[in-house]
Amino acid sequence: MSSGSEKYGRLEELLAEVVGLRRAASLLHWDQQTMMPKAGAAARGNHMAVLGKVAHEKFTSPEVGKLLEDLRAHEASLPYDSDEAGTIRVTRRGYEKATRLPPDLVVRLSRANTEGFAAWLQAREAKDYKVFLPALERIYGLMREVTDVIGWRDHPLDALLDNFEPGMKIAEIEGVFDELRTTLVPLCKAIFARTGAVDDGPTRLRYPCEPQMTASREAARAIGFDLETRGRLDLSVHPFTTSFSPDDARITTKVDEDFLVTSLFASLHEAGHGLYEQGLPTRFQQSVLGDGASAGLHESQSLLWENVVGRSRGFWEFFLPRLRAIFPAQLGGVSTESFYRAVNKVQPSFIRVDADEVTYNLHVMIRFELEKAVFDGELSLKDLAEAWRAKFRDYLGITPPDDLVGVLQDIHWTGGFGACFASYTVGHVSCLQLYEEAVREIPDLEAGFARGEFAPLREWMGRKVHAHGHKYGPRELVERATGRPLTTGPYLGYIKRKFGELYGL
Ligand code: ZN
Repeated sequence: MSSGSEKYGRLEELLAEVVGLRRAASLLHWDQQTMMPKAGAAARGNHMAVLGKVAHEKFTSPEVGKLLEDLRAHEASLPYDSDEAGTIRVTRRGYEKATRLPPDLVVRLSRANTEGFAAWLQAREAKDYKVFLPALERIYGLMREVTDVIGWRDHPLDALLDNFEPGMKIAEIEGVFDELRTTLVPLCKAIFARTGAVDDGPTRLRYPCEPQMTASREAARAIGFDLETRGRLDLSVHPFTTSFSPDDARITTKVDEDFLVTSLFASLHEAGHGLYEQGLPTRFQQSVLGDGASAGLHESQSLLWENVVGRSRGFWEFFLPRLRAIFPAQLGGVSTESFYRAVNKVQPSFIRVDADEVTYNLHVMIRFELEKAVFDGELSLKDLAEAWRAKFRDYLGITPPDDLVGVLQDIHWTGGFGACFASYTVGHVSCLQLYEEAVREIPDLEAGFARGEFAPLREWMGRKVHAHGHKYGPRELVERATGRPLTTGPYLGYIKRKFGELYGL
């Protein structure tokens, strides 16, 4: 009979194969989004499906299940914080979930997603939610099945939220939104009444693509993303980040030649995700721990560099001279103060991905409230588009003119329905809580931004967040890093301070 550590060694070996297959699939995906000739799509889809299937089979194999059972006593003897205990814990959670879904449900889900995506494209073409409705009803029915198979106690959406934010509950997310709603809705109304106070004109001139890519690379490099030997920045339709190890993290951006903000801030955002990936411990590179804590915590790092740093006065004192050197004609006469204001304009908008720091979480809240109302039986999917419009009127004071810029804008609901969006808000809230703690521990942190000194903040996040990989859930990680549970105070304080000053409220 082999010892606990021998069994653990065997588990690590099997997991390394699973991780290797998943990384290979991610590389195929990266290539598909950046380099692949268009006609390659069909074959590529097959190759990715094969890798996904083999990885799933390996991960859910009886041998993994047996090892997890046999390792219970060994696990109990390990310190909770150890890599070994973390690996067993994370593997057990994933294994139980993956094996609970019956194969026929997985097949029906994947078919519903494919059909849902096609119906969503047609509905967008027709700008008509009704075209998407039958597919969404099917997807919703399957999601109800999933919640029941996985199991839940307080709310069915808890079972789905756990996929994005391990260990978090819908009741907590609801509490967060209650606090955000109370502050953000009146704040937005006050800002919208003074929207002319901030002019984003300087960012809306002609900015050709090539020099924008140069600027984007320089910005990513400035905050410490290693583009030389451990990373890349390329173009894609939707910006994203992927990585194959801490030594190979890749980010993408997209360019709008009539709006300077798009690529520059997408690059800072993705570089924030990229710093998380480059900051993961090398010893986790073949491990299930070689990942961020959760979707929301990953987002906290991208929002940190995009908004908290990238939209700060200090950053622009440092970076505007560099940007001006790339675009002398457009930015020659623009002061730091007017550029800082321009990149912080707040306005009501229909589209979530174009929303500013203040309105963004209202976009998320609308989706969360609608999903929850459907799961609670208070709203029928038939009435979703109308309910969407009503909420936009209530919270943002504007009514989407059609479903394309309304209920049909996100791809998320083609792949599932329920708790899809909460991570974005977990990201905003945890970002400011982590940042506030970093500022408390390093008093001259913000003063350094104007001198281009971002290493102290990056290293603090490295120690408190990146170093733990996927070992802890989001709630636990935030509490370990800041000494208190997730709270909206720092986020709301930051928003009120920053935008109160900008808009003279
Ligand atoms: Zn992101």
